[in-house]
Amino acid sequence: TTVQSELIAAIRNIPDYPKPGVMFRDITTLLGNPRAFRRAIDELVHPYAGTKIDKIAGIEARGFILGGAIAHQLSSGFVPIRKKGKLPHDTVRIAYSLEYGVDEMEMHKDALKPGEKVILVDDLIATGGTAEAAVKLLKQMGADIVAACFVIDLPELGGRKKLEALGVNVRTLIEFE
Ligand code: 5GP
Repeated sequence: TTVQSELIAAIRNIPDYPKPGVMFRDITTLLGNPRAFRRAIDELVHPYAGTKIDKIAGIEARGFILGGAIAHQLSSGFVPIRKKGKLPHDTVRIAYSLEYGVDEMEMHKDALKPGEKVILVDDLIATGGTAEAAVKLLKQMGADIVAACFVIDLPELGGRKKLEALGVNVRTLIEFE
């Protein structure tokens, strides 16, 4: 079987979550499947093998799980991008819009040095609002964003195009409508 079909089979689909009409793509089943988890990480990182990547920036919370594994594989550091109020030291913060209202995400001020090569990681890109905010935060810190990586793309929601319009190279493994 192809990597794509194996990953699709490892993802659980939850109808009407978190609200009616939404099909939630649950990756906990993929993470719990040793072979699928390894294949997802291997597929995400293989274009960057042999490239010096200073830091993996993972978006809370599923981006932490994937990002930690990717950082280990590429021998990179890991830096968390968190919801506001969770990080203990001085932070840089950015506001972003959600479907209803706004939220803020932040990173430690000293998490990155200008010019460091960074890969951004999350599990899924939908509208791209979350990743776009993370990209802006990373750029504000002077990061050299090598790529943004996601296991799942929902192409109809336009997130990939939004990031590409910011000049970011996007890598995704599978797509759902
Ligand atoms: P966006 O900002 O691109 O519209 O939404 C992406 C964010 O919402 C990501 O942080 C992602 O983890 C989360 N998300 C939205 N829908 C889903 C889904 O169906 N499955 C999973 N695992 N995460 C989702």
